Amino acid sequence: MKTKPLFIVMSAPSGCGKSTLIDMLLQEYHDIVYSISCTTRPPRGEEEDGLDYHFKTKERFEELIRENAFIEYAKVHDNYYGTLKAPIEEVLAEGNSMILDIDVQGAAKVRDYVRALPNNDPLKIGYVDIFLLPPDMEELRRRLEGRGTDSQEVIEKRLANAEGEIARAGEYMFKVTNDDLGHAFKRLCDLIDALSGRM
Ligand code: 5GP
Repeated sequence: MKTKPLFIVMSAPSGCGKSTLIDMLLQEYHDIVYSISCTTRPPRGEEEDGLDYHFKTKERFEELIRENAFIEYAKVHDNYYGTLKAPIEEVLAEGNSMILDIDVQGAAKVRDYVRALPNNDPLKIGYVDIFLLPPDMEELRRRLEGRGTDSQEVIEKRLANAEGEIARAGEYMFKVTNDDLGHAFKRLCDLIDALSGRM
């Protein structure tokens, strides 16, 4: 079945299950491609070039900035991170969809970029942004503490960040609450099916 190619931008506070839900979507929809960011930071642990990130030198990254190759980029702790335009355009031109996992600030830059495109641009036609919400702050705290990976200090910082991010949820076209993984996944699938014309 031919479906409308989507350009899906997804944001969520840390601990909302975004990575899990994106993995589930990629398993379910083989025509959705995950956008791999570029970065100048060195690979960590088992990270592979072209899989986790496209690892670039600072010189090459700055060259790409000058060439206007990024839909958005940011400098985080002395390293650049960015999303290339070309892979998104290619995936949509092939009739597939692209999903971007990006924070609220990055999503705002992408939104501005898309807004300035002509109405017939495939990125604009397929654009959709979704914000994943935790059921409430107490549950988010429980989840972050339950992961057992972060110190109390880091957890408090993530919670404070989450409040700031949730305050901007209204900028997104759709909000999906992850109260239960199965339910949230179903809501995302329903949304994607409706927007891409699968039903
Ligand atoms: P890490 O180095 O831990 O993989 O990522 C550090 C930060 O960079 C995270 O907050 C992550 O969201 C952000 N980041 C990763 N990729 C991109 C991107 O393509 N664009 C922007 N603006 N930030 C990114």
